[in-house]
Amino acid sequence: MKEVKIDICPFCGGEELIESHVSSMAGGVCVANGIASRNAILFATVCRDCGSVVRFFCKTPENLYPKKERRK
Ligand SMILES: [Zn+2]
Repeated sequence: MKEVKIDICPFCGGEELIESHVSSMAGGVCVANGIASRNAILFATVCRDCGSVVRFFCKTPENLYPKKERRK
């Protein structure tokens, strides 16, 4: 998984960004085609100054691919 570094909020220019776990009924995202049996928990990067969600991401995107289709 590639690292994405966000230092400044693109909406208000705030420099304090918090990585937070997204709580939802599903608790994460699942693959649409239903092949993979696992899902990945969704996280969000939230600006502490304006509250904007700068980024949604999964920490384990590899879980979304079945082993045979896993990308390098
Ligand atoms: Zn902001």
